[in-house]
Amino acid sequence: MTISRILIANRGEIALRIHRAAHEMGIETVAVHSTADADAMHVRLADQAVCIGPPAAADSYLNIANIISAAEVSHADAIHPGYGFLSENAKFAEIVEAHDIKWIGPKPEHIRTMGDKVEAKRTAGKLGLPLVPGSDGAVSEVSEARKIADEIGYPVIIKAASGGGGRGMKVCESEDQLETLMQQAGSEAKAAFGDATVYIEKYLGNPRHIEFQVFGDGNGNAIHLGERDCSLQRRHQKVLEEAPSPVISDEERMRMGEICSKAMRDMGYRGAGTIEFLWENGEFYFIEMNTRLQVEHPVTEAITGVDLVREQIRIAAGKPLSVKQEELEFNGHAIECRINAEDPFTFAPSPGEVSYYHPAGGMHVRVDSGLYAGYRIPPYYDSMIAKLIVYGRNREGCMMRLKRALEEMVVEGVKTSIPLHQALLEQDDVKSGDYSIKWLEEWLKERED
Ligand code: ADP
Repeated sequence: MTISRILIANRGEIALRIHRAAHEMGIETVAVHSTADADAMHVRLADQAVCIGPPAAADSYLNIANIISAAEVSHADAIHPGYGFLSENAKFAEIVEAHDIKWIGPKPEHIRTMGDKVEAKRTAGKLGLPLVPGSDGAVSEVSEARKIADEIGYPVIIKAASGGGGRGMKVCESEDQLETLMQQAGSEAKAAFGDATVYIEKYLGNPRHIEFQVFGDGNGNAIHLGERDCSLQRRHQKVLEEAPSPVISDEERMRMGEICSKAMRDMGYRGAGTIEFLWENGEFYFIEMNTRLQVEHPVTEAITGVDLVREQIRIAAGKPLSVKQEELEFNGHAIECRINAEDPFTFAPSPGEVSYYHPAGGMHVRVDSGLYAGYRIPPYYDSMIAKLIVYGRNREGCMMRLKRALEEMVVEGVKTSIPLHQALLEQDDVKSGDYSIKWLEEWLKERED
């Protein structure tokens, strides 16, 4: 089984990322794009490009029929979905495979299981991953919810089974709010996701977000590539990520990593995956698994030297993983800043024409971006326009280099989050790595007052 031409069913920096890995493997690429992206860098660099529809994502990047047609007319033998869009759509993965096109992603049944949060939690529990205490599955009766909440103690969090992007969650402080909040969560979930199913968990007061990168070959072999700390978040959106986590020891990494990779071996998992945990007082609590490549994957690449997209392509072609667990080494420290086209402190979107662009450079500095001078950032999609990833031999060296790289990076014509990252690097808590998932929002609020 070989792959000779990959259709990239995505846009922006991740489309470029996949194109680069493919070309380094001697594989041709086919870009697909909406009419709004005709001048995008991923379209320029690919060997072929096919327009798949108008600007709205629902009509283009989510248009399964048009993407499959594009693969057929371009004779692509594999599809890489990137992240977002159709990457965690099990139905799409099945359709791709039914057309005899290789799906560069996990088995559709695993995408489906992990996409349903109740099912995911149940599966994670069976696989031996530590869970947040809570209901065993969906909860429909208030009396049942009351019983569970009494057992685990308040505050509790009511979550939508079909939730995503931090939506459909209610924190409940005490018993008298339970009934009302359960009804609210249910009807909001129904409106947003077409499914009113909710479940209950203990609400953790001040956790960190720590996730493990895993990889399986689909035949019962799996490895972990350590953790990433993504605790700096605003509205559940990650802003800056680092690897390794400032609070995880080498022993803890190998212990938890082994629990994660064993779970993937038992599952027969195929491809790249991320197991997300909340971490508090030395304990890990599974929250969800993402069955795709993550935005923040480059920090793992920086400290392990493994090209994760290349591994994804190898596995889809039926080849084994290129590294064994015992060969993997974790070296140094890496930080990624997500650079968005938005006001750095109000977060109001700032699409438009980039009049001047100068990416940062130098030793151990990586910029993943489709930007160029004259590029018009369309208003229709995610506001992330670049990722700046910096490596250093230790955390302190990495932060000094990051500061230097942010000084060099110039994007004119639109507002960007570069000044936010510069301000963050001046904060003592960020310098010392002492932050939880609440830190950024609290800091932003203090800044405002
Ligand atoms: P989604 O799929 O909507 O992103 P997650 O289950 O991954 O939902 O949770 C998103 C975020 O919500 C987490 O990163 C964390 O900030 C918060 N969260 C989720 N569960 C809990 C919990 N039990 N206690 C405290 N915070 C939580």
